[in-house]
Amino acid sequence: MLLQLASAGVLQPGRGDVVLFANTTAEHPGTYEFARSVCDEIESRFGVPCLWYEGCSVEAATRFGYTRLRTFKLVQRVPAADGEDPCRPGYRSRGEAFEEMVSWTRLPSRWRRMCTTELKVRPGHDLVAEWISGGPGPAQQGHYRDISLAPAEIVAARYQGVLDRDEREARLRMACAEPWARPQQDWQDFTTVDLHRPTGGPRRWSDIWGRFGAAQKFVSLLGLRADESERVQTAMWRSLLAEGAEGSRCRDRIQPAGELVYCPLSDGGVTEKAVRSFWASQAYDLRIPDGAGNCVYCFLKGPAALARLASEADSCDDAKDTPVDIRWWARLEEEYGRPSKNGEGRIGMFHDTDYESIMRRASGMDIPHVNGSTSNGTALGVPCSCTD
Ligand code: SF4
Repeated sequence: MLLQLASAGVLQPGRGDVVLFANTTAEHPGTYEFARSVCDEIESRFGVPCLWYEGCSVEAATRFGYTRLRTFKLVQRVPAADGEDPCRPGYRSRGEAFEEMVSWTRLPSRWRRMCTTELKVRPGHDLVAEWISGGPGPAQQGHYRDISLAPAEIVAARYQGVLDRDEREARLRMACAEPWARPQQDWQDFTTVDLHRPTGGPRRWSDIWGRFGAAQKFVSLLGLRADESERVQTAMWRSLLAEGAEGSRCRDRIQPAGELVYCPLSDGGVTEKAVRSFWASQAYDLRIPDGAGNCVYCFLKGPAALARLASEADSCDDAKDTPVDIRWWARLEEEYGRPSKNGEGRIGMFHDTDYESIMRRASGMDIPHVNGSTSNGTALGVPCSCTD
């Protein structure tokens, strides 16, 4: 979609158009390769900047004391490395942002899909609000002290929920060990396109939510196809309802009133077959196993599709303890699952099974291939409908 829109002149760098890639840190390595190739081409041929970002949390003051608030950080299109400059970090791919979110909140599930919200949608909107403001880069987030003001034991002491305090503290440790501030960043460090942005301090973000009056309008183009009508409808409805609520007290928490959503592929009747045939004639393509798109073992894909993926996965040392290995997901469920109300078992990401059982199924069963299984998670008929 991006290449065709850029070729047709729909994307215009002079207007401030920007391409965003949300890194959940749980993507397949092939996805990073592909996204990097597309971004390199878009920037070099068409001069449209491409920015990668990750959801993260920082410490901030609230009326209940210091706590962690979610925000975003820009990341470069090279892997993160020890000792890197925190203003110009590389991207992570070992599930770090995903686990930080789980550690701070809870496991996502089909009924509470906050991973999409916390790792893609909300950080993306925060980024857009800063980008539109026209400043040199996102302002520092978090406090300027040199010690943590919201360590796990303090946050756990305020907790009132089903876990006991020690258990809550143990779960919080991973999130609370993350940096308490995200330093000021410079857009120019994350793109090869010359942005001609002003220097100096950051500007106040644009009010795309309509919190203080009329919302700042902007257009989002989503790559949803004509054969994904349910996802298209969800995105369009959300945007329509939010637009109608501008300036009122019933604003949608995650949908800015100023965002106008369009789905050019869907509008043009482009289906998965057409997308595949487009990429077949290109110099590069998305090289990942069928069904490994989005977060590799995303619970939305369904147990049968996940078992198939796991049964076909290559086991190599590089994948060990990363989201490319289903054991990473099983560990997350084991560590962060909650006791069920009757005290029997734990609540994980599924309501009727867990990643351990899926792993057993993968190692013991001959799982049939289904005609038409796809690379975007529709294998065995269970769509991964993570809309971003
Ligand atoms: S792909 Fe799945 S696991 Fe990843 S953010 Fe979306 S819903 Fe969550």
